[in-house]
Amino acid sequence: MLLKIKNKITNQIPISVKVTIWYTFFIGLLLAAILGSLVFISDILVTNVSQKELIKSVNEIATNPHKFESYDDGIFFLKYDSSGRKLGGLTPAGFFDNARFSPNKINIQKKRNNRFFYYDMKIRHEHGNWVRGIFPVTKIGNILKKLLFILIMMSPILLFLIIYGGYKIIKNGFKPVEKISNTAMKIKENKDFSKRIDIGYGSDEIHNMAKSFNSMLDTLESSYLHEKQFSSDVSHELRTPISVIMAESAYGLDHIDTIEEAKESFLVINRQSKRMTDLLSQIMELTKLEGKETIVKEKFDISQMIIEIENDFIKMSKDKNIVFSADVENNVSIYGNRVLLERVFYNLLTNALKFTKNKIKISLKSYSYLNCCIIEVEDNGIGIPQNEQSKIWDRFYQVEQSRNKNKNKGYGLGLSIVSTILKLHNGKIELQSTPNQKTIFKVILPINNKS
Ligand code: ADP
Repeated sequence: MLLKIKNKITNQIPISVKVTIWYTFFIGLLLAAILGSLVFISDILVTNVSQKELIKSVNEIATNPHKFESYDDGIFFLKYDSSGRKLGGLTPAGFFDNARFSPNKINIQKKRNNRFFYYDMKIRHEHGNWVRGIFPVTKIGNILKKLLFILIMMSPILLFLIIYGGYKIIKNGFKPVEKISNTAMKIKENKDFSKRIDIGYGSDEIHNMAKSFNSMLDTLESSYLHEKQFSSDVSHELRTPISVIMAESAYGLDHIDTIEEAKESFLVINRQSKRMTDLLSQIMELTKLEGKETIVKEKFDISQMIIEIENDFIKMSKDKNIVFSADVENNVSIYGNRVLLERVFYNLLTNALKFTKNKIKISLKSYSYLNCCIIEVEDNGIGIPQNEQSKIWDRFYQVEQSRNKNKNKGYGLGLSIVSTILKLHNGKIELQSTPNQKTIFKVILPINNKS
């Protein structure tokens, strides 16, 4: 329950704010730790270094009395005789000169805010005279304190700069995400798949995400347009037979008097109904195939299948004066769906028969080193102009000059069915055509592909 409330609250805070709070906390912690350890270390450092320096300097004067000076390098020196009478030197302000010899150890004197280290030592060859070195710790401590004070004063400014700069960078970094969600909302509201996210040039993670989003929109737009086009094509194709049926039946109702006239009208209606059934079954077939991801495959002799189909076509067109020739390699077997592949060659030969002048050639050759076989269907008909060759695979597409021909009674779906079936077989189809000379459809199928 508590966790749910916490999640509800934190999910409402923008990510940029969350990240800023997160690193501000740690930077603040880090800064406090650095400053704290600086205070601590500086104290130890000052004590250690200054005590060592004091011992060294006093020791030097005790062994070389002629080097005696009242003040050198931050240290005050005093000289006494054996009874504690001051013989020379300088006493730092605030130091209480007790003149009691306390040899070979660091002594500490604290008076109000002042702190001193002092060190005594007998002077060599001077019969009881001794030297005292005094180091006023407060002085160097004050400098360090000032330094620390400056640092502490600077740290909020530094912290502010870090937080502000970081926040700005994160905020700007997330701007494209805002654009992405706005674009998605607009697409949802207006169903306008042509919208794209424009966040300029870049290759960071957000730009890459926007690119992926745009390419997803490309796919969505093309399939959306495809579907739209498909529905409009289907209605367009159905409109003609339906209009004919309606006109013919209306005419029949009003004007037909004899059985013969009625039969004629029924013939027209029957022909148009057949066209509609034909079209609808082709659409169903294509839709079914496009929804499939895999098909049932079995090993079969494709050479035999090609010869059988060719024979059927020879029989079908025996009164058409068309010369068929075949160059089919024997005993080539492949893994595939026989029924669907029959449909492929049936469609290709139907087209060849529709558009040829007088020759149709079919060949099959296997290439075991390429693990494929190639089947070519060639005719010497009207051909397909170069600029139309990429379009004939689209659903309902028919080349203008063939559309006008009385003998092309298709709907422009045959080749879409062919290419869909071949995709399901991991195969492909290529086209070579020279208008008014020849057209070759080249089907390439893998031989040993079971999957
Ligand atoms: P259709 O059922 O109309 O033949 P297809 O998808 O099979 O539909 O073919 C699309 C179009 O491609 C045909 O309408 C025709 O214009 C062209 N086409 C296909 N095969 C041939 C060919 N062998 N020769 C000339 N044009 C062809």
